[in-house]
Amino acid sequence: MERIKKEHNVLAMSPKNEPVLRVASGSTVVFETYDCFTNKIKNQTDLFGSIGWDSINPATGPLFIDDAEPNDILRIDVLDISVVDQGVMVTVPGLGVLGDQIQEERTKIVPIQNGEAVFNDRILIPIRPMIGVLGVAPAEEEILTGTPGDHGANMDCNRLVQGATLFLPVHVPGALLAMGDLHAIQGDGEVIVCGVEIPGEVTVKVTVIKGRSFPVPLLEEGDAIMTIASDKLLDDATKTATKRMHAFLTDELQIEFHEAGMLLSILGQLRICQVVDPLMTARMELPKWVLAKYDYRLPVS
Ligand code: CA
Ligand code: CA
Repeated sequence: MERIKKEHNVLAMSPKNEPVLRVASGSTVVFETYDCFTNKIKNQTDLFGSIGWDSINPATGPLFIDDAEPNDILRIDVLDISVVDQGVMVTVPGLGVLGDQIQEERTKIVPIQNGEAVFNDRILIPIRPMIGVLGVAPAEEEILTGTPGDHGANMDCNRLVQGATLFLPVHVPGALLAMGDLHAIQGDGEVIVCGVEIPGEVTVKVTVIKGRSFPVPLLEEGDAIMTIASDKLLDDATKTATKRMHAFLTDELQIEFHEAGMLLSILGQLRICQVVDPLMTARMELPKWVLAKYDYRLPVS
């Protein structure tokens, strides 16, 4: 199996990034990932301010997938996520929902023991490792890995876990896939500006989908599919995520416009991914059994 080492990483998703590995569609690749601080915060005394923005949110890659061309869709099956036995959290003045009340930086080391994050003596949390940053190169401009968008990247969606499938647009030849910013556990909102940040490895299968144009980013995980959108205001992100799922229902399942809106209003679950990055991210979840009722399957090739 091909492997990309964590030392091969980018700080921006860009069509100009040089690919570090080239594979055929249908290949399985392991990405080693730093945590979002390039593994530079190891102790309680290592503060966020000491590491510099050029060490924030490295994304391993990019991977060039043969035959991926603009207007294709890239299917990414997350086959496995493994994380190390220690994660880290920080608070930083000005960052996150409480940023205006935070006077000084703080670092917290969170050990992982027997599949649980040890928050303190009382609070042990079963981990659910997820990928914070997973994206492709945008069409023309360069976008920092910390900013989410229609190209994916820092969506911080806690349902992007092992077993999930993410569909992203292809904007440039090869797609140029990169990822990083694993969290051992993260709540919806990511309110303090981090999850349990942790290094690890992600195994993905990448498949180029030709001739299809359903709304992306689209995520399938567990019992649901979800459309994801990012915008300056959460209000706008929620509306775009909703309209994308509505378009999925009308265009892919051929459900009539009003019916599709009514269905979303009773079965759709509109949720927040994160409210702390340069753009806010929301998702509209729909139970997968609806697709089965229409004999609809997401494309596998
Ligand atoms: Ca993140
Ligand atoms: Ca993070």
